Amino acid sequence: MADVLLGELSQRACPVCGSRDDTAVFAPARLDAASLDRYAFASRKRPEHMRLRLVSCPDCDLVYASHVPAPEALARAYEAAAFDSGPEARSAARTYIRAMGALLRELPDRHGTLDIGTGDGAFLGELLDAGFTGVGGIEPSTQPITAAEPRLAGLIEHDVFRPDVRQQGSLSLVTCFQTIEHVPDPAELVRDATRLLKPGGLLALVCHDRRSPVNRLLGLRSPIIDIEHQQLFSPKSVTRLLEGAGLEEVGVQAIRNRYPLRYWARLVPLPRRAGEWVERRLLPGRVGDRMLSLPVGNLLAWGRR
Ligand SMILES: [Zn+2]
Repeated sequence: MADVLLGELSQRACPVCGSRDDTAVFAPARLDAASLDRYAFASRKRPEHMRLRLVSCPDCDLVYASHVPAPEALARAYEAAAFDSGPEARSAARTYIRAMGALLRELPDRHGTLDIGTGDGAFLGELLDAGFTGVGGIEPSTQPITAAEPRLAGLIEHDVFRPDVRQQGSLSLVTCFQTIEHVPDPAELVRDATRLLKPGGLLALVCHDRRSPVNRLLGLRSPIIDIEHQQLFSPKSVTRLLEGAGLEEVGVQAIRNRYPLRYWARLVPLPRRAGEWVERRLLPGRVGDRMLSLPVGNLLAWGRR
């Protein structure tokens, strides 16, 4: 089953700095064919604690999978991935646009945006509400697009990100939230995205911080240690990623995420049955809908062209 979904794995160098020293094993591979179902590549799902072999780069601080599926196999896995996260996607989009407030005020203008890995386009809705025009997103999975609000569905292209998706120098803002861990070549994506920006345009990423207190505490039980993550960043490695693409005024900031209690409960490392019991019995209906902000180890990282 693992073979069917992931195909043959091939070895790679550090996808941020190119170092070939993969001797510092962060976690050995852990694959379970029975759990490699279609939800393994859905966002905001219950974690199953599977992972590729992860190594820690001695040069740039990235943790990355040293042996990865072919990009086509990944694209197929995401194409078929189930989507189960509408309300959470809206909470996240609101969190991100608030965190970016000061950065958005310094854009060259509010015309021309692209959200890479936009899911159901929740962030596109926030941009429209904030007065942006020329808003668009790209998403490799079918299901979130089907679940998009009618006003957003037409703004989403169903594809993986490609450098010719927009004209070079045509965008004020490119965003990529909770996606950079998933792509086969994050340095290439950031370089290509940077070329799409106007002078002074902003590239903003949200990614997990593997060095945050919560992720250090949970260790290999953290939900970020997951089969779908090809690499995991820290402030140092994400800064290197953005500066490597020629971006300037690079900055990194921890953000607090605001989600319903039900979603937080899903991330606690409990056995599957116990987790489902908590969700059903302790957090029924409106209790589970209550919103809670927590610093869960996410980083907002940005740079200007
Ligand atoms: Zn590296």
